[in-house]
Amino acid sequence: MSGDDPALEQGEDDSKQFLVRCESCSFERSTDGREEATRLGNIHHRETGHEIVALEVPPSVEPDSETK
Ligand SMILES: [Zn+2]
Repeated sequence: MSGDDPALEQGEDDSKQFLVRCESCSFERSTDGREEATRLGNIHHRETGHEIVALEVPPSVEPDSETK
């Protein structure tokens, strides 16, 4: 295992994790932040014409340190 460690980044509203998935193929990518998710979706859409769905990944750490 190498690469992304979700525990390294936390605290900012804009650094939420998103899972970008394609409805037409098996493309799937996790990203930090909504802008990056949108950007990846746009790139894939331009290259393939596929429709992209971006799902927000709920944080699985710190059960009750923050209340919204
Ligand atoms: Zn696709």
